[in-house]
Amino acid sequence: MTDYFDEHAPDADPMEQELQNLRRLRVLAALNGLEVDLDAPSASKAAIEKLPVHVITKDEQVECPICKMEGEEGESYKVLPCKHEFHDACVKIWLSKTNSCPMCRFELETDDPEYEELRRYRAEERQRQERVDQLLDSMFT
Ligand SMILES: [Zn+2]
Ligand SMILES: [Zn+2]
Repeated sequence: MTDYFDEHAPDADPMEQELQNLRRLRVLAALNGLEVDLDAPSASKAAIEKLPVHVITKDEQVECPICKMEGEEGESYKVLPCKHEFHDACVKIWLSKTNSCPMCRFELETDDPEYEELRRYRAEERQRQERVDQLLDSMFT
């Protein structure tokens, strides 16, 4: 009997590979209670490249929240600006689909000018709201 997986092994087609990755990511994410925001554009390549790398040392205990695997000595993790860290490979797949941190929704830069505009607008709105809240706080305390 031939092995099912041998016969159906993914070929080298990058598109097919990409789809496989996406499917795998969604299954993993669903299992781990994470949500992929597929409406968001992917993070910009430059932003991903810029992320600092953390190489796991022997005594560290780090779990990648995307695949829930325990980090092993010598593995590279990428550290997002929000300080959440993930396997290099896991976060690259994740950020090729959406620009936000799976844990806290911190948004990375994108290459999409329209989305960047919206992101700036949202950030300004948030700041404005915070100022209003502070003002109200100071008036009523
Ligand atoms: Zn991982
Ligand atoms: Zn985060």
